[in-house]
Amino acid sequence: MPRLYPYALLLVLFLSLPALANRFANVEIKATPLADNLYMLTGSGGNMAALVTDKEVILIDAQYAELADKINAKLSELSAGKQLGTLINTHMHGDHVNGNSALMPKRIIAHDNVLTRLTADTAFPRTGLPTETFSKQLSLSGNGQTVRLEYLPPSHTDGDIIVWFEQDNVVHMGDMLFEGRFPFIDLNNGGSVRGYIANVVYVLNVIDEQTKVVPGHGELTDKAGLQRFHQMMVKTLALVEQQQAKGLSSEQIVAAGLGDEWLNWHWNFITEERWINTLLQAEPITQ
Ligand SMILES: [Zn+2]
Repeated sequence: MPRLYPYALLLVLFLSLPALANRFANVEIKATPLADNLYMLTGSGGNMAALVTDKEVILIDAQYAELADKINAKLSELSAGKQLGTLINTHMHGDHVNGNSALMPKRIIAHDNVLTRLTADTAFPRTGLPTETFSKQLSLSGNGQTVRLEYLPPSHTDGDIIVWFEQDNVVHMGDMLFEGRFPFIDLNNGGSVRGYIANVVYVLNVIDEQTKVVPGHGELTDKAGLQRFHQMMVKTLALVEQQQAKGLSSEQIVAAGLGDEWLNWHWNFITEERWINTLLQAEPITQ
């Protein structure tokens, strides 16, 4: 019955489509107001932020292509029908850039290294590549608001920027902050444990008690939240280093764990074991 074959194939396709779509089917894009015309947006993937100016919507990070229609609908709702003009990528990870092309912004801004790494990824849609890049700093303005993009040295990857909404005293830290959980430090994409901690210290020294701090993952927080994150990293790194100094092997250090104090920071992506293994790869201090 060769004529049935195409129908069988269609049936297989039809049955597999819901499985593919499922992961995002029930995801809702939620907006939390941060200031006038400025919002934190959550869905699935890295937290986003949106600023509505008199001309356009500026969006920080893109989550996944499958969510692009829902994200654009939310932006339209928040802006009384304005279009997404400028998309900014904090760094190159899929949960922050996968939606680049599908969101159809007028331009995409990122650090130079993001363009280099995404270009090297042949599976990444060319229409989603950054259209404008910079090496150190770039400022945009709209509605009397200055949006300052600042590159910080290698930390989570080698292409991370943070975004300052100057007048509103809000900072989007991208994945330089995983609020309340062990961070992912992508050593294969130019990340650095000590660079990561140093960048958090840098931000702590610039912000004040009123600053609203948007993390790449986790809940909206503030300076105290960033301090807790910093303390967790400093203390767990010190613990691992003490055990290394005692001559324990990596396996022994992982087996010993970090103790009860940090249990709540463990999550499915960066488990305690994975965090210890990251700390074990901290660069030696050279003076
Ligand atoms: Zn990331």
